[in-house]
Amino acid sequence: MIELSHIEKRFGDNVILKDISLLIPEGTVTALVGPSGGGKSTLLRCINLLEIPTAGIIRIGGETITFLPGKKTRWQDIQKIRRQTGMVFQNFQLFPHQTAIQNVMEGLMTVLRWPAERARNRAVELLTKVGMAHKMDAWPSTLSGGQQQRVAIARALAPSPRVLLCDEPTSALDPELAAEVVDVLGKLANEGTTMVMATHDLRLASKIATSVVFLEAGNIVETGPSRSIFGAPTQERTKQFISTLN
Ligand code: ATP
Ligand code: MG
Repeated sequence: MIELSHIEKRFGDNVILKDISLLIPEGTVTALVGPSGGGKSTLLRCINLLEIPTAGIIRIGGETITFLPGKKTRWQDIQKIRRQTGMVFQNFQLFPHQTAIQNVMEGLMTVLRWPAERARNRAVELLTKVGMAHKMDAWPSTLSGGQQQRVAIARALAPSPRVLLCDEPTSALDPELAAEVVDVLGKLANEGTTMVMATHDLRLASKIATSVVFLEAGNIVETGPSRSIFGAPTQERTKQFISTLN
């Protein structure tokens, strides 16, 4: 279980996330949806502490960190949380000077200090899982966007994070390539990978999300099982938003 409790994030006087509380059970897929600027990316970045919440509590994998205004978060605590998360970005962000397999091995060797052989075996296993084993020696610039994103997913999963965080994983891709990535994410979901993803892609959200969180202006407007949010939202604002996607 990942637990976010009363998370607040401010940038100066702007309150970007307001009192966000969310439970993410193991093996579930949570889709963060809602209008641009609502705080989806900021919330993902607060879960892996690329941004430090200004207040609230995060519990993940037996670790608890409390954030208080004015209290500096210890680097060791940040690392404890960050190591339990893997992140996939809209623009893939592969290391351009490394081949696909080197991208997946890099963190295992430099951060976890695995020997090369072990890292290579793990990388091959993950590249196979995302259907990219045949391109393991390719440079990122020679891969399609969908292929790059699949390598990025393999890289994020390599250290066996507790949760895979995805920020608009398909929105830089045209529909055919997006479908490849949706298939991979769907397969991971079926295997029980815990995921939280921000997405404008309703197809992706409805296909693989267990639950949906509708965020607007830093507030959770509505949250519930994917089927009920997409099928029968209760809040007027959610209805309106969902109808614009159809
Ligand atoms: P989109 O759908 O466009 O990706 P989003 O829901 O992901 O939007 P965020 O990127 O989380 O929204 O942004 C939420 C708000 O926080 C925006 O008003 C944005 O300008 C502001 N914001 C994000 N990062 C920072 C920052 N580093 N400094 C100041 N304001 C920021
Ligand atoms: Mg965003």
